[in-house]
Amino acid sequence: MPIIIMEPVKGGMLANTIPELEAMMRKQQPNRSIASWAFRFVGSLDNVMTILSGMSNEEQMKDNLETFINFEPLNDKDKEVLDEVTKAMAKLPNIQCTSCRYCCDGCPVNISIPDVISALNTLRMYGEQTRPQFFYNNLVERSGKAGDCISCGQCEAVCPQHLPIIDIMKEASERFDK
Ligand code: SF4
Ligand code: SF4
Repeated sequence: MPIIIMEPVKGGMLANTIPELEAMMRKQQPNRSIASWAFRFVGSLDNVMTILSGMSNEEQMKDNLETFINFEPLNDKDKEVLDEVTKAMAKLPNIQCTSCRYCCDGCPVNISIPDVISALNTLRMYGEQTRPQFFYNNLVERSGKAGDCISCGQCEAVCPQHLPIIDIMKEASERFDK
């Protein structure tokens, strides 16, 4: 069956990662972008008919063209490196929100959910309160606080990443709502 792939770089999340993991990929393929790993992974699968990539600038388009003109599937060593990287990524504490914002319009208390998650991710990844707290304080001047969540579940029903948003809002409230 032909396969059409959406979100090959997970809304851009696979185009950037922590320096240690980037270094592993660059050591193996010094001339390739980090995003190209995701494209080469999906492009190496059987029966792929189309890969829909949400490019947002010319640089990304050039990078995609470089990857797919004279396409080279992942070799065995690439697959080993990618396996190590994905295992390490799975252990990172960040929440895998792609900022698609499908959850936002229906929130009855107008929480800017992906932005709250972004602040929480910064706190979780770097353990530093000042910068994400400043971002959060500015955010909630124009939208709902994480603590305003009434657990209606609308957001969880539409989240394509199946994130436990109600629990995430509770954690964000504990960490940011003073
Ligand atoms: S569960 Fe909370 S965050 Fe989600 S839509 Fe309802 S009020 Fe908004
Ligand atoms: S729907 Fe899910 S992935 Fe999309 S912005 Fe909301 S929380 Fe993030």
